[in-house]
Amino acid sequence: MKNYIKKIYLFLVAIILVLGGMLLHFQYAGWPVAEDVILAEENEGLSAILNQVQMVVDESKKPPVLPDTEHQVPIVMYHYVRVVDKEKDALGYNLSINPSGFEKQMKYLKDHGYTTIHLADLLDKKVPKKAIVLVFDDGLEDFYTTALPILQKYGFTASNAVITGMIGAHEHMSEAQLRECVKAGIELLSHTVSHLDMSKLSKEELKKQLAESKAYLEKTFGVKVEGFVYPSGRYNELAVQMVKDEGYKIATTTQYGEANLEKNNMLLLPRVRIDNRDGYSGFVKKLEAIEK
Ligand SMILES: [Zn+2]
Repeated sequence: MKNYIKKIYLFLVAIILVLGGMLLHFQYAGWPVAEDVILAEENEGLSAILNQVQMVVDESKKPPVLPDTEHQVPIVMYHYVRVVDKEKDALGYNLSINPSGFEKQMKYLKDHGYTTIHLADLLDKKVPKKAIVLVFDDGLEDFYTTALPILQKYGFTASNAVITGMIGAHEHMSEAQLRECVKAGIELLSHTVSHLDMSKLSKEELKKQLAESKAYLEKTFGVKVEGFVYPSGRYNELAVQMVKDEGYKIATTTQYGEANLEKNNMLLLPRVRIDNRDGYSGFVKKLEAIEK
């Protein structure tokens, strides 16, 4: 009989150890997310109502000022948010994220407690935990038609790097669309006038690209433009100096990595590129790697 009780006792201890181990594992490795829960779109009517309720709740909240701040933050780089046939346009595919894939990524950020902030918010050198900057390059039209409604659905903001010489051009946002973006709280960044390789420009040419784009955005949209994005991530020492001299306070490249506000040059902050090739799991992996 005693032996029997001892066995039960050992069995219970074993179960407690296994459960404890699982708890520790998931605590550190992240709780498993059921893909089918994320994809559950059957009850669209109900979820639309819930989303509206969520948006009202979100709007009533003050911007989170968390006591727990840190110096590291991912600056995500997106380009197009559209459907592209990989076979027909491989380059376009690599520069794009599928709208449904983009929405899943935004839902992930929402579900995991991320706060979207603007690039210029990083000038404070401290950010709330789980802060993230979403930068869309090139002022593309699908930012307005596709990305913005999804961002708004999740109560998120973003930054758009505008090529001022391309405003209203094919696939690019018009002045009216940019105005709507500004109204919706989107941060405008300069991405120069004509998207040239800045490592190859003279001082005069750099000045023109940097000063004209900044002045145009500020005058046309009544905003302060402190942030800059290097076209194709190209720069040299002179270009960085000119970015500073023309009054920009913060700039980002295409070099891969999270931004470290203590260690990085604020005019050369790295970014985390996300496109179709990452998929949902790639996006999650990149962010989880940064969280650690
Ligand atoms: Zn660009």
